[in-house]
Order: sequence, then C-alpha cells, then structure tokens
Amino acid sequence: MSYVNTLMEKIVQRNPNEPEFLQAAREVLESLEPVIERHPEYVDAGLFERIVEPERQIIFRVPWVDDKGEVQVNRGFRVEFSSAIGPYKGGLRLHPSVNLSIIKFLGFEQIFKNSLTGLPIGGGKGGSDFDPKGKSDAEVMRFCQSFMTELYRHIGADTDVPAGDIGVGGREIGYMFGQYKRIVNRYEGVLTGKGLTWGGSLARTEATGYGLVYFVDEMLKTRGESFAGKRVVVSGSGNVAIYAAQKVKELGGEVVAMSDSNGYFVDEKGVNLDTIRLLKEVQRKRCKDYLAMHDHASYFEGCDDIWTVPCDIALPCATQNEINEQSARTLVANGCIAVAEGANMPSTPEAVKVFLDNKVLFGPGKAANAGGVAVSALEMSQNSMRYSWTFEEVDAKLKDIMVNIHKKAYEAANDYGFSGNLVVGANIAGFLKVADAMYSHGIV
Ligand code: NDP
Repeated sequence: MSYVNTLMEKIVQRNPNEPEFLQAAREVLESLEPVIERHPEYVDAGLFERIVEPERQIIFRVPWVDDKGEVQVNRGFRVEFSSAIGPYKGGLRLHPSVNLSIIKFLGFEQIFKNSLTGLPIGGGKGGSDFDPKGKSDAEVMRFCQSFMTELYRHIGADTDVPAGDIGVGGREIGYMFGQYKRIVNRYEGVLTGKGLTWGGSLARTEATGYGLVYFVDEMLKTRGESFAGKRVVVSGSGNVAIYAAQKVKELGGEVVAMSDSNGYFVDEKGVNLDTIRLLKEVQRKRCKDYLAMHDHASYFEGCDDIWTVPCDIALPCATQNEINEQSARTLVANGCIAVAEGANMPSTPEAVKVFLDNKVLFGPGKAANAGGVAVSALEMSQNSMRYSWTFEEVDAKLKDIMVNIHKKAYEAANDYGFSGNLVVGANIAGFLKVADAMYSHGIV
C-alpha cells in the first residue's frame, strides 16, 4: 500500500467522525505524492503524521442569557493547527452547522492558504454552533462576550489572531475585541477585520474580491489573454462577489449575471454595480429587486442555472459546492476559458476534474481567494507598527501578493510534472514552506 494510503488509514481510525476533515486531508495528501517521493527526509521526520494533527484544539462551554432571561449554552471551538511559520491565523465561524470536523477541515486548509500568501502566519480556525440569524444585537453581544471570556486566554497578537468568517462581521469582531481588551487590559491587534477607527486596515473589505481578479488576470496572461472585452458571470452578491465584479469592470470585462440564494439576474448591458451595492450593502434587498431599476434585465428563480449563462470567465463567489459536474460541462460547452474560486470549495471534485480535463484555466480557492487573509496579515503588521497604510499602499501590496501566489503555484505545478494544474501547484507550494520550517524546528 502507498505511504499516503497507509497514512490515510491511520487518520481515518483516529478521526472516525470527521468527514469534512478527512476529505480535506485526503485531497491535500494525494496531491503531495510527488513531494513525498522527492523528500524522503520528510517521511523519516514524521512530518506528514504531524501536520495532520492539530497542535492544540480547544472546545469550551459558552453560556449566555437570551432576551427572555433564559440561559442558553453553545459550544465554542478553536483549533490551533500549525504555528510552523507564524502565529495561528484563521476566522471564527458562527453557524448552527459548526462542529469539530468542519473547524478542523477549515483550519487544515488555512495552513496552506496562509503559507501561499508569503506572509508569516500559521493556520487555525474557530467558531461556535451559535446561530446569529434572528438574534437581537444585545443577544449577539452577550454571546460574543461569553465566547471571548474563555477564548482570550488562548489567543494574543503573537500567539493566535482570529478574524471573521460566516456569521462574524464587523459587529461581532467589535464585541469580541471590546471584551478582550477589557479582560487583558491591553490594546493589541488580537483580531483582524476591525473597524477603521479602531485598528482595521483600509482595503480589507475589497481584498478578497480584488485579489481574486488579480489572480485571474495572471492566469489569463499565461494564455496571452486579459479581461478586456470578456463576459464574466459572478455568483453571489456578497462581500467577495461585489468587489470581484467591481475589479472585473475596472480591468475592462463585463459582468453579465449575479445571484443570491433565491435566484440570479442577467443584464446584457453589464451589471450596474451602484445598484447592486445599494441593494445589498444599504437596503439589504434581493437580486430580484434589480429589475425595478433596470427593466431590460431578466430574473430567474433558483441559483443553479446561473452557470448556463454563456460567459468567458466564471467566478463562483457564493458558497460551497455550487458548481457540480453538469454545470461545469455546460460552462465548457459554452466556451468558458477560466474559472476561479472566490468562495471556499464552490466546485465539486467532479466539476474540478471537468475543468482540468478540458484545459480550462482553473484557480482553486486556496490560492485565488487568499487576498482576504493576506490583507488581514497586513492589518497585523500595521497594528504592530501603530501605523496605517493608505488604500493605495495596501492595494498595491495585495496585488503583489496575488501575482506571487499565482507564480508559486504555477511554478510548483511545472516543477513537479503537473504543468498548468494550479490545484496541485497550490497544495505543493503552500506545503513546502511549512514543511521546511517544521523540518528545521525538529520533532515538535
Ligand atoms: P456574504 O455572506 O457577504 O455573501 C454570500 C453571497 O452568497 C450572498 O449573496 C448569498 O446570498 C450567496 N449565497 C449564500 N448561500 C447561497 C446558496 N446556497 N446559493 C447561492 N447563493 C448563496 O459572504 P462572502 O462574500 O464574505 O463569502 C462568500 C464565500 O467566499 C464564502 O464561501 C466564504 O467562505 C468565501 N471567502 C470569503 C472571504 C472574505 O474575505 N469575505 C475570504 C475567503 C473566502 P444571500 O444574501 O441570499 O444569503
């Protein structure tokens, strides 16, 4: 049996109830087979056995009192996966589906994503099964304060720096930061995604969307192409989607369709981004309402068929598994030349295979959406320096980072005989830096 299969058996035995984590571990380990062949010293040092075991995982009780005066209890998690190249870094997710398997899967992926940014950040992830939907501000605040009353002892600006994720935006980061500061009596950059008046970084809001488009621009250059004149479909209409669409337009492309969880609209004249921002960021309305302001556009219930809209470039920026094999085939049949993941894991493994088999340029989320965490790391740097860079300075650094991530993934794929396969390239490039650090640190 191959080394990876034997190792996977051990991982399955040790983590039997963690399907998401096992899926992520298998995907990464299988793509590292050529590294294992070239670096037998990593096997001798037990490096693969160690990297799949979190350095520390903390599970804790989060009691809080709701508006009716009733006691509620949630479960909190923080998985500190790898500090080989820097303090643990990764978001906090508040969603009823959160469990140890999901947090471990996300934390494991985060190790390689963070490494790819070239910045000194390790991998971690956390959260709780608390559902912020339908809760009052006061309830969210009491939950966040209780959550931080335990978490504070495990984190710190040089130890572990959480950020937002699903269900954790500026409001939640604010409540958590306030409680942390009160307990430790120190003003430090212990969380990222902070408000601009209290330590946040300019361009963090735009970072993931802009970064995605900078990354795609690099992919296109490898085929002598650019965004100019291209038809682009962007799924979602949230943070990542809106700023990806804005940057596409700036680079000369035309976004013709966007969606939310109810449906999608098509505007052949090009999506009006002022309208989308007004609807989503100010009025909190639905994509359907776009038609009231642009009656030449069309709206369709359900989001799956957005991938039937003919396009040159597809940017899935909504949610996991939103492109299945059939949608991937439709995209290919309609002449799509590039797909890049703004969301985490939006393409099923079968869809990824269709793209790779058909030589569609494909940017995996681990590389393509790393702009968000990269600017979070820049927020840490600015906090340490007690200094703020301008929007233009942060944006220029973000662009450099995304160009470099593409270069590293592209070159690693070539070097290991998988030319053009950025899935394998991103896993290998992300892994090698962490592996080198782990090897230097001895058996720890
Ligand atoms: P938002 O919550 O701002 O936006 C999500 C968008 O996707 C909304 O338009 C939402 O519609 C839509 N959506 C949600 N579920 C579905 C569904 N089942 N089908 C179709 N559309 C759906 O999130 P973000 O933009 O921040 O995140 C989007 C993705 O990007 C996530 O996978 C996230 O993990 C990933 N990501 C985000 C980063 C960031 O910096 N924000 C960094 C790296 C990755 P509705 O309003 O109806 O719910």
